[in-house]
Amino acid sequence: MTGQLGDAVRSGARGEFGALVPVRPQTGTLVTCLRGHHLDLYGKLKPYSHRYRLQGTLCEVCRVQERYDPATRRLAEWAHLDVEVQRTPATGPAEGLVLVAHPPAAGSLAGRIELRLDGVEVGAVTASLCVGCRAATLDYVHVTAEYRRLGFGRTLVAAAVARAPSFRWTAPLPDGPVAQSFRARIAMRRAGPRCIHAGCAEFSG
Ligand SMILES: [Zn+2]
Ligand SMILES: [Zn+2]
Repeated sequence: MTGQLGDAVRSGARGEFGALVPVRPQTGTLVTCLRGHHLDLYGKLKPYSHRYRLQGTLCEVCRVQERYDPATRRLAEWAHLDVEVQRTPATGPAEGLVLVAHPPAAGSLAGRIELRLDGVEVGAVTASLCVGCRAATLDYVHVTAEYRRLGFGRTLVAAAVARAPSFRWTAPLPDGPVAQSFRARIAMRRAGPRCIHAGCAEFSG
């Protein structure tokens, strides 16, 4: 049992063989795992993802469940990304999973945030902010096809909101099953007409 536990802790090995664990925005106190198991009941581990270069959590209940049902989705372990840590493009390539925020254009706070894995863009979010209205619109969220269903999209949304957490956020209602399924899980009202302030810039990245 101890040996298997040790294998699970070496999470980097999983990534090196192709499978990536999910990612979630880092939060203060973790109460439940991605399946809703209370982590204080059966224990958890704190693996380090060498693939992402991020700390993570592993739910013991999920780990056992996934071992007995190999066909099930792998949600036992996930990595935490601090969405308030956003690099600038000038910082240069970084290993692991990082957020890169492009500087806002003059007169606005709008911009584009990329999620990069080992220096390669795997997703991006663009948002328009108006300081006068204290309002923000999530314009566009995109995740490269082979990196979907890992939480990259919701992590990008959290990264955008982290730049203006006190603003009133809205988002359009896109077409298409993938986009609709993603959008329907974001707790934001639908976007209204754009405001008329000069400080309001739209980015289409
Ligand atoms: Zn669990
Ligand atoms: Zn405005």
